[in-house]
Amino acid sequence: MSILSLNSVVKRFGGLTAVNKFSAELQPGELCALIGPNGSGKTTIFNIITGVYAPTNGKVFFDDRDISGKKPNEIANLGISRTFQNIRLFKGLNVLENVMVGHHLRLKSDPISAILQLPGYMAEDRKMHTEAYELLESVNLSHLADKQATALPYGQQRKLEIARALATHPKLLLLDEPAAGMNPQEAEELMEFILHILKTFDLTIFLIEHQMRVVMGICPRIIVIDHGEQIAEGAPELIQNNPRVIEAYLGV
Ligand code: ADP
Repeated sequence: MSILSLNSVVKRFGGLTAVNKFSAELQPGELCALIGPNGSGKTTIFNIITGVYAPTNGKVFFDDRDISGKKPNEIANLGISRTFQNIRLFKGLNVLENVMVGHHLRLKSDPISAILQLPGYMAEDRKMHTEAYELLESVNLSHLADKQATALPYGQQRKLEIARALATHPKLLLLDEPAAGMNPQEAEELMEFILHILKTFDLTIFLIEHQMRVVMGICPRIIVIDHGEQIAEGAPELIQNNPRVIEAYLGV
């Protein structure tokens, strides 16, 4: 049984068809890449999965539930989390506090209790603190817990953003170009990090990435889109030698 299923999804922005009858299935535990040239519709697909956009046509199923057109918070509560192309860490908060924001989103604390610091809230806050620290430990970032998040080196900020996404306990994690702007060593560390969280957190990961070394290095299956349509799908060796892919993407 697939965990995510996109059935003939279409997204139009006025006269522009950004995604055109796109279908894909992800199995639980899979690490699958979505690649394609700039403007081919990758981020729009992530935005449809996470409810930022409703599909113009077609359906999206998560865990056998129709989530097409549901609101982003409903979809997040069902177990889908994501990161964005541009790092979105909270300025002025340290590493631990950034992860605690992720826990807050999951626990949905009553804001009045939080402002009044009522006992129930304080107990919840302590629990979140412990959980956030444990999460940082499991991704080997706990030594940075009290550092300002935005002062971390770039590669660590990316990892922290992923850790924060994990704090909501997702079953499916969508990563939008996590290696963008990374040097080869940072990209290498990110690859190890992604493989580590895939195993440790019992996740399914859908990954948009331009750095081919990262995609080919860790993703057993790759889906390629061009002009909003799927043009190829398969293992890295098959994708690398596919003439349509070379023409659309790798040859540029
Ligand atoms: P990719 O992530 O592959 O670079 P996108 O999904 O961002 O591609 O964009 C696909 C196409 O849809 C592009 O032509 C882009 O300009 C267009 N597009 C994306 N979002 C919007 C929007 N909100 N309004 C209008 N056009 C959009």
